[in-house]
Parts: sequence; structure tokens; C-alpha cells
Amino acid sequence: MEIKLYNTLSRSKETFTPLVPGKAGMYVCGPTVYTYAHIGNMRSYVFADLLRRMLEYNGYEVTHVMNITDVGHLVSDADEGEDKLVEGAKREKKTPWEIAEFYTQDFMHSLEALNILTPTIICKATDHIEEMLEFVQALYDKGFAYRIEGDGIYFDVTKLPDYGKLSGQNLEDLRAGARIEVNERKRHPADFALWKDAPPEHIMQWPSPWGPGYPGWHIECSTMSMKYLGRRIDIHTGGIDHVPIHHENEIAQSEALTGEPWVNYWLHGEFLQVDGGKMSKSLNNFYTVSTLRERHFDPLAFRYMCLNAHYRTPLNFTWEGMEAAQTALQRLRQAYQQLPASSEKPSPPLAEKFHQAINDDLNVPLALSYAWEAARSNAPRSKALLDQFDQVLGLKLSEPAAQQQELPPELAALLAERNEARARKDWARSDQLRDELASMGVIVKDTKDGTEWEYRPK
Ligand code: AMP
Ligand code: ZN
Repeated sequence: MEIKLYNTLSRSKETFTPLVPGKAGMYVCGPTVYTYAHIGNMRSYVFADLLRRMLEYNGYEVTHVMNITDVGHLVSDADEGEDKLVEGAKREKKTPWEIAEFYTQDFMHSLEALNILTPTIICKATDHIEEMLEFVQALYDKGFAYRIEGDGIYFDVTKLPDYGKLSGQNLEDLRAGARIEVNERKRHPADFALWKDAPPEHIMQWPSPWGPGYPGWHIECSTMSMKYLGRRIDIHTGGIDHVPIHHENEIAQSEALTGEPWVNYWLHGEFLQVDGGKMSKSLNNFYTVSTLRERHFDPLAFRYMCLNAHYRTPLNFTWEGMEAAQTALQRLRQAYQQLPASSEKPSPPLAEKFHQAINDDLNVPLALSYAWEAARSNAPRSKALLDQFDQVLGLKLSEPAAQQQELPPELAALLAERNEARARKDWARSDQLRDELASMGVIVKDTKDGTEWEYRPK
């Protein structure tokens, strides 16, 4: 069945044709590991995971490469300020290496909690310094880069007439729109660092033909994606904030090196928002997978929330929304578990509709509605069908729903005490017990049909 993908480069849905039949290579821009990844970042990785699972559902052998940025990403994406890893190291009085190690581990746990399949290859920038230097040298030799003494090696964007094509900007607009304080020694304000000179006190530094230094941020993705996927690549993903600088610069470096088109399909995920704005580390308005757990949510309820919005639409995060997602996921699991087991083959029409939905630029919200249809149908084939759908959805439908878990005796006793307090209309005591129960993972809700509870142990 045909797969359609929305390509940021052409601003249209295109039919997916792989470079090698039956195989698909995808490069996913990974996290900068200087602090915790937040659930906004994780939305981008859930999206990439859905893409991979969809391709695998279609029988493709997928090579999924993700980098770990552990050097070179400066505080401003436009090569200004300190390296984020150095900033993290100062904040926590550790070395940048320790910072990278700690937050990489934390990130891996978040991937696991959200049932994101482990990438085929995970590559760290600091393990590829030599290859990056070769890349920079080649660009320099070909006349695409120049040196600013005491600063570093910069890419000359004017050497590529189509610079800006991903975000639809041209060189004149970029010059006109540049901020005044931009580095005046650059030939064009959009020129970007390939390699930065390191002052002696800079901890992360390597020898280079231009003296000790460290790589710019963008060069790692061009270098590692080509190393593991070849000089031409099927798919590259990231969040939409990466379109105007990071991905534009990746394209410039890569196409300058090879002289041919580089990535065939550019896919970008929209933001997870808070109060209508981007959830971000720098705005300090973020939550992590650990926050979800502390509040007794199943991290997969967050995955469910992501599945319920198309990846190209912004999703506003609220705790009410999390509650609704948690309830929906529990109901879907319960419905799945109550279905009769059967060896009959899944029902063709629903399977077909599901397949069409995911192949239509990942219309996962629609696909999810077919999962609900299957769950409600109670047909003998539905369980097998949902097992098949869950290969893409990744919701672990066969895991016990939270309500079905047994309460430990002391919590059951507290719950009984609360019910008694309510019965004698002692609202103060009943509220106090509700909060106490909540702090121990028992979420109590009073509905018109009586009191319901859910147990969400940490
Ligand atoms: P970073 O660690 O900042 O390099 O970001 C890792 C990934 O998360 C990138 O693909 C970003 O585009 C993406 N990202 C950052 N903030 C958000 C957000 N609020 N919603 C969705 N994706 C985001
Ligand atoms: Zn990247």
C-alpha cells in the first residue's frame, strides 16, 4: 500500500519511494544532554517512533539513527553564548562528560517509559570528532568555508544559491532580517560555525589543523547521518524549531560536500505547548516523564495523548488532558482484555482502514479511532486485530489496566475510611483522606454514580 509523507521541503504530501527497495533509512535529531529531556522533546521522539513503526508495519527494514548531542550546541542556536554542556557542568559543578552521561541515561529511561523503540544506532557527537574534522576540512578545501582568526571555521552560505530552501527564505531576506549584534566578522549573517576555537580553559577540546577546538552543532548530524546511512538519505526528522537554522545548515554542509540532493523526505513534528506557547527548557515551563510518574500517571497515557493529535498540529498540554488520556488508555486496555481470544484472522475492512490511515502521513488519531471501533465491536477477531494495531500504537494494550490492580490492604482501609466519612457527610475528613490517598497513588473521583478509584503506583 502506498505511503504518503508530508515533506517540509516541497510543502506537500509525497509518495514515499525509498532509495533501496524494501529498506528505509531515517535520521532523527537527538537530544542535547545538558538537562532533563521534557515531554515536549519526547513528543518529537514519539512521532519519530510512530514513523518507524509505520514503516515496519509496511514491511520495510528500517535503519533508525539517532544522535546524542554532547558537545557544540551553544546556548543560542546561532552560534552565540556558551556550550550548553559547559553551562550544565557549571550549574551542577560536574564535568561536561558527567553531565552528558547522566542526562543520556535519563533520556534512555524516558524512551523506554514511552515504549519508543530503541534506535538501531545511537551515536554520540564526541565519538565522531575525527570524522567531523574530515568533513570540515573537505568543505574548507572546496572553498565553502573560511576561517575567522581567534574564532573558528565558518560555512559561507553565499556559496550555495539555494540556501534557505527548507524554510522558504533567501539570502537577501536573511541578511535584511539579521540582528545587529550578529558576529560582524562573518561574511553573511547566516554563516555558521563548523568548528570553534577553544580557549585553554575550555574542557571539551580536540586538536585540529586550526589548533585546539570543538565542533559546531550542525556538523555532527551531517557527519553521523552520512556515516551510518550513506551520502543520500531517505528520511530526516526533528521538531519544527529545527527547520530554519539547524536543518537548513545541515542541508548546506551536506549538499556542499556531495554536490547532490541529500535528504529525500524532511518531516517535522509540531510543538507540545503550555498555555499556547512552546514547552521549553529555556522558558522553564516544562514537565518530564518523572513529573508524570510523581503525579501517578502512566507514561503511556502521555503517549496516548500524543497519538490523539496529528504530529503536524500543535498540542496543548494540560493536566486535565492527561487525566482524560489516562482514562481513555485504561478503558481501551480494559476493553481489549475483555475481548474473547480467537485464532481467526483479523477483520479485513478495519485492518485496511487502519493501514490506510497510518500510511496517509501518519494519521494516527484516525487509526486510533479504528482501534476503538475494534475494541467495541466484541467480534472474535478483534483481539488479534488490536494486537496488530498495537505494533504501531505501542500502547501495551495487554498490560493490566490500573483499576484492575489490587490495592494494598492499608490503602484499601484508607479508602473504606474515606467512604465512611463521605457517608456521614464529613467533607473535611473525606477531602483530607482523598489527598492522602492521592499522595500514595490512589486517585479517587466522585461521580454521579458513586466513587471511582484508580491505583497508579509509582
Ligand atoms: P534539543 O534537546 O533541544 O536539541 O531538542 C530535542 C528535540 O525536541 C528536537 O527535535 C526539538 O525540535 C524537539 N522539541 C523541543 N521542544 C519541543 C516541544 N515543546 N514540542 C515538541 N518538540 C520539541
Ligand atoms: Zn540534528
